[in-house]
Amino acid sequence: MIVLWEKMTEKFKIITGFDGASPFSMDGVTENQDGTFEVRPSWRSEPGISEEALGSGSRFSIKVENCTDHDQKFDCFINWQDATQQRLNHHDFVMIKFSDADDWEIIMVELGNGGAQLSVELPPGITHISTSPWYGYHTALDYIASKTGFTGVTTFSVGNSNEGREIPVLVIDTPDGCNDDKQDVMIIARNHAYESAGSFCIEGMVDDLLTNSPTPQALLKKYRFHFLPMTNPDGVYNGLSRLTAPNGADLNRSIEQPDAAWQALKNYIDKVKPQYLLNIHHWMDKEKDGLLTNTKADAEHFRALMPDLVEDKHYWLLEWTQLYLNQYGFNTCPEARKSWKDYTLEKFGTLAITLEFPWFNRTTNRMRKIGRQALDAFLKVNKN
Ligand SMILES: [Zn+2]
Repeated sequence: MIVLWEKMTEKFKIITGFDGASPFSMDGVTENQDGTFEVRPSWRSEPGISEEALGSGSRFSIKVENCTDHDQKFDCFINWQDATQQRLNHHDFVMIKFSDADDWEIIMVELGNGGAQLSVELPPGITHISTSPWYGYHTALDYIASKTGFTGVTTFSVGNSNEGREIPVLVIDTPDGCNDDKQDVMIIARNHAYESAGSFCIEGMVDDLLTNSPTPQALLKKYRFHFLPMTNPDGVYNGLSRLTAPNGADLNRSIEQPDAAWQALKNYIDKVKPQYLLNIHHWMDKEKDGLLTNTKADAEHFRALMPDLVEDKHYWLLEWTQLYLNQYGFNTCPEARKSWKDYTLEKFGTLAITLEFPWFNRTTNRMRKIGRQALDAFLKVNKN
């Protein structure tokens, strides 16, 4: 059941409490005497840790209804409560899907006083305002359900989260089913709740593989694909930034954590033993795309296959394990810092890469296209 909270002035209705809203409760929204608003995206149902701690959030997502019949100026202070101002410089823009628009656009905001001042003309109807394009838990379920009739597609849940939500997977295989020579390719997204880029990238990959064109058909002869576009359903639904709960698990860590979503994800990885693993994220750096690998050769080969996305004014930041260890002065990677790419390499010899595709200068259609391009490059990287 979806519970919506609404706060209404003469002109505007603020809507929160929906799948992926942040702040998730009206307790994080204040209406001022002068008709302006303050929202606090760090609001949590209980005090949190990591990026769920006060002032450390990365997620903001509310809907605003202009209840009149003409454009109205909407003034809102997005109070990140970032007393240290360490993360604030990442919040100098928001993304908006206006009620009359097909896609999201970027609006710059003024930083100050631990937050950001948004001032924007809204057309009549419901406008969605977010740190990044919204992609809820149910968006993933609906998307996967829309593909069930396609040849070669199987969908199921790999397990439930702590709050009982399914962790959906979509497998694409050749229609005749099992071919033991096939290599298993796993693509996962939303380890971290706010990072919607991965969900859109996966839509781009799946849509492409389900066409009848020669390249996807050739790929399906060689590979079996496992897409998990929503690995952290509780964090996504409850409007969190990184974890599965205010004090929950970090799903990008392979160290054991007492969390049902973490266990379900690990069980599925252990069952499939993928030859290829692509984990898609989006960090808050605006123009840096992240290319995080186990070896220097993997990073350099991938970049050669998918050069800097200069059309978005983005460039790659490369980081492989040895470089990371040198940076932090470690001889070996501490267990608590290992991610799935370390884990699958050690256990199964997997070619594993983590990518970060921040939203700045990008639309959702562009992100789907980037997903297709990334999968194509990934499958051409030399496998030892
Ligand atoms: Zn992440």
